Amino acid sequence: MKIKEVIQQFRDELNPLYSSEEIENFIFFSMHEYLGFSRRHLQLKSNQLLEKKETERFKIILSELKNHKPIQYILGHTEFYGYKIRVNEQVLIPRPETEELVEFILQEISGGGKEKDKLNLLDICTGSGCIAIALKKNLPGATVSALDISDEALIVAKTNSILNHTLINFLQGDILHTHLKSILLPLEKGKAFDIIVSNPPYVLHSEKEKMSRNVVDYEPHSALFVKDEDPLVFYKVIADFALEHLSAEGKLYFEINEKMGSEVKKLLQEKEFGHVEIKKDMSGKDRIAVGKRQSTKADLSFGG
Ligand code: GLN
Repeated sequence: MKIKEVIQQFRDELNPLYSSEEIENFIFFSMHEYLGFSRRHLQLKSNQLLEKKETERFKIILSELKNHKPIQYILGHTEFYGYKIRVNEQVLIPRPETEELVEFILQEISGGGKEKDKLNLLDICTGSGCIAIALKKNLPGATVSALDISDEALIVAKTNSILNHTLINFLQGDILHTHLKSILLPLEKGKAFDIIVSNPPYVLHSEKEKMSRNVVDYEPHSALFVKDEDPLVFYKVIADFALEHLSAEGKLYFEINEKMGSEVKKLLQEKEFGHVEIKKDMSGKDRIAVGKRQSTKADLSFGG
């Protein structure tokens, strides 16, 4: 088949399912992946005859797209904060909102007084490792640790860390059933974290019905969903840990469910974090929560 025939087939068969903008992106991403063509190149080469195995490959991509499989899983990677991140169905596809979280943290760090090279950061529920990797890339002197419950996710995260030439301490553990402190035992003892960040599961089971098939059918449910009865279960555990293990001016950053802004704010305030703020994402939805650990009397007496 010629390139233009494959392109037409994508347009015709995907038209009932996706917007034309999405379809054009699928075509470009697929052709770029396997033929290395730019958009312009694609137009110029539209009469080029494809080899049989290339035609077959595009047929498979088309059938997967018709089954609502996300293009990132089909091609096996995506881009996050300018870095190439491998993904498979064991990890969530990094979202633009999470890039906003990273941007926010980096901006706050650059405005803060603390020496960047001495920072000690922890990413909880790291998934593909995207947050930890983007932070380490931008803070090369910082110590970055990241943990996840899933061994399969950690394989992806470690691969991403190697591909992006970053050194991160990866740890496996179930934070709901094991004390976080014991999961972190392999790390340098007693060293407080300057930043703890987490994008934990936060979608309610009751929200599933309204979600699109590409998410519900393919993305890992353990990374997405929490019980309606206890939507902040991860937030509580992480906030409790942060209270004890953040450095005196250390900060806790969460990505949150847009409907939970006031609940997360209340939770952090009740736990006596200071400067608690809820930030909106680019779509105007509550998406980031931040709180600062307040110095305690113990910190002060030890000069912390
Ligand atoms: N933002 C993701 C979504 O909308 C959910 C991420 C999460 O649960 N942490 O599907």
